[in-house]
Amino acid sequence: MSDDDVRPESDETWSATWDADGTWSDEAELAGWEESGGDSEGGSTDGESAGVTSPTVAVVGRPNVGKSTLVNRIIGRREAVVQDIPGVTRDRVSYDGLWNGRTFTVVDTGGWEPDARGMASSVAAQAERAMEAADVVVMVVDASVGATTTDETMAGVLRRSKVPVVLVANKVDDERGFADAAALWSLGLGEPHPVSALHGRGSGDLLDAIIAAVPDAPRERFGVSRGPRRVALLGKPNVGKSSLLNKLTGESRSVVHHEAGTTVDPVDSLVELDGEVWRFVDTAGLRRKVSTASGTEYYASLRTHNALEAAEVAVVLIDTAEPMAEQDQRVISMVIESGRALVIAMNKADLVDADRRHESDRELDRDLARVTWAQRINISATSGRGVHRLAAALRTALASWDKRIPTGRLNTWLKDLIAATPPPVRGGRQPKVLFATQASIRPPTFVLFTTGFLEAGYRRFIERRLREDFDFTGSPVRINVRIREKRAGKR
Ligand code: GDP
Ligand code: GDP
Repeated sequence: MSDDDVRPESDETWSATWDADGTWSDEAELAGWEESGGDSEGGSTDGESAGVTSPTVAVVGRPNVGKSTLVNRIIGRREAVVQDIPGVTRDRVSYDGLWNGRTFTVVDTGGWEPDARGMASSVAAQAERAMEAADVVVMVVDASVGATTTDETMAGVLRRSKVPVVLVANKVDDERGFADAAALWSLGLGEPHPVSALHGRGSGDLLDAIIAAVPDAPRERFGVSRGPRRVALLGKPNVGKSSLLNKLTGESRSVVHHEAGTTVDPVDSLVELDGEVWRFVDTAGLRRKVSTASGTEYYASLRTHNALEAAEVAVVLIDTAEPMAEQDQRVISMVIESGRALVIAMNKADLVDADRRHESDRELDRDLARVTWAQRINISATSGRGVHRLAAALRTALASWDKRIPTGRLNTWLKDLIAATPPPVRGGRQPKVLFATQASIRPPTFVLFTTGFLEAGYRRFIERRLREDFDFTGSPVRINVRIREKRAGKR
């Protein structure tokens, strides 16, 4: 048995049953926790999802279109999901659902935070997060309002997605709403499914459509990792990406063009570094410089997005000679969102003297506080200084990204951690963590099964300790919480 499967009932020591209302109950309770040490070390190494996992459904849409109401309807419960608190990031929480014998997981992809960058980027971020996390994306539109510009922006992002999208025309409470629903064909996402999340109308048909949209095989997020590892060179314009690529290809003694068994997409470059061939992705996009003043940033961010999609690890270049810019932060945010591994290359190191270097190191500690886990290397793309350190940094980051902690070891570790520092009491109740598993690698993603919500601060604490004890240098680590609700009236 592989520990890829995140559903605890697949674990022999953990017998849980699914209830018709979509919640699950278990017999093992803490016994499962105690006995979970027996699974095999190692797990599968080449890619995720051996075995059947329950598909993940992400629900997206503007505020107030009825997402929470719909999620409650889908999982068959009435109580509110985690409520939106303005200005506070809503945390990613999963809920389990059941329809016609198929189990699935509904993911709440997080809050809606129009930030300084405005509504459009917030929409795109939400949609991208959903596409990243889910096997099916459900986009909810308020049919009584019709498609707004924001809806159109989001639909535009989702149309590019490889993940199937199911469009919901919500608030169709009666026959009169059908015309409003039909108008949403204009979004270009196929048939709008008329639903009244509030009254339940149409929700059965919707669930059929969602289940039908689930791909047969669980999505291969990164394919099988054969062939060269895929690297994206990222950074704001003029930071030195092309110079670095030129240096790397120039110094590469044998740039392999037709390696047996690999098809070389002409948009990529194969480069040998430190005895290993690497695939630098979307280098065509890098060479195709866009110089029009307006829209440069847009194209830069589009290129970043595309390169990240294709890559496993990102090298983000930052100009050592200048203060960190908002654009640098944005690129780093995109890497974190994408879940790819990260190496930070401080470029143009030749332009700064020792004093400035010292000063900039301190600034960087502050500016890069959210990615303290990423390695920072000093390089000069033009002179080539420090560039030889790149391969080792990439290997470290990818090893962390691929790392899997066996379930038994993870639970023993977590049990000690929680005994020493229990989760904070919330609303007079102390949430219990029943069981944990690493649901996937690339990036390492952990799921904690709990009896109540775990605050973000506590999850960050767990992440910090995971990093200290297992070393995830260079890789993002995700921690999801799955709240296990007891079936009412049983036991
Ligand atoms: P969210 O912000 O997208 O999660 O939206 P909510 O689920 O909080 O719903 C926003 C408001 O729309 C609430 O007042 C709901 O009661 C209402 N609402 C949700 N679904 C429907 C529906 O199908 N019909 C009607 N009339 N109102 C609905
Ligand atoms: P890109 O837009 O990120 O591809 O940046 P380029 O590679 O075109 O570099 C922009 C400018 O910075 C060019 O004039 C390069 O010669 C210069 N440059 C790039 N890397 C370095 C470096 O390490 N040191 C110095 N002094 N200049 C650099």
